[in-house]
Amino acid sequence: MRRPFVAGNWKMHGSRAENAQLIEALLLGLPAQPVAEIAVCPPFVYLWEVGRLLKSSSVVLGAQTVCAEPLGAFTGEVCAAMLKDVGCSYLIVGHSERRGIYKEDDALVARKFMSGQSAGLIPILCVGETLDERDSGATTAIVSRQLNAVLDLAGVGAFANAVVAYEPVWAIGTGKNATPQQAQEVHAHIRSAIAARDAKIAADLRILYGGSVKAANAREIFSMPDVDGGLIGGASLKADEFLKICAAAQVH
Ligand code: PEP
Repeated sequence: MRRPFVAGNWKMHGSRAENAQLIEALLLGLPAQPVAEIAVCPPFVYLWEVGRLLKSSSVVLGAQTVCAEPLGAFTGEVCAAMLKDVGCSYLIVGHSERRGIYKEDDALVARKFMSGQSAGLIPILCVGETLDERDSGATTAIVSRQLNAVLDLAGVGAFANAVVAYEPVWAIGTGKNATPQQAQEVHAHIRSAIAARDAKIAADLRILYGGSVKAANAREIFSMPDVDGGLIGGASLKADEFLKICAAAQVH
């Protein structure tokens, strides 16, 4: 039985005052023991303080990226051990904004995945196709390529302690979500790609959908059999929206 999971990716948003307000509203609105696991992923500089605000709640902390190197002379970077040290449980790797804007290729994403996992973080590996790739019928090939880069480096066993997020690039921040059927099709493909290497790990793997999820569409998307929750961008910054999305995941 896979526990539903909703993670909020705050991206480069927030301030100390706004974060405190958002966390206060979330903690007031969430049940003490939610059925779904809930995480928030603030920018690096706020991780420690948000972690303190979450203390003694069931909401956990995640980071948005990491340096692939474990330690050393890498000015401006943050390594996985530091993220663990400030209380992170999860680590997003391979977000399309990192792949697209910062030119992170599959090999680098795989190294970040491994670096996070070695430090005790649970990677949330983002995969997904652009609109051109979808239109040319390449969706499953792209997603397989992105998955295989990690499978080949880390091995299927690494997915026993990881999460995959299917995030079609054309749906991120655009207001244009994948239909529940489109999401299910790719989620099923991801699960079967993992199952080809290990059926038990595939059956237990949580696969999130991300891309313009909001209160109004969450329940329908989360109701699909291979959708185990969501990775939420814009809507995770609004307490009322995020709470409704979390509630939609409870009834999965
Ligand atoms: C994201 O950035 O991971 C995301 C899914 O964004 P949004 O929900 O805003 O589309």
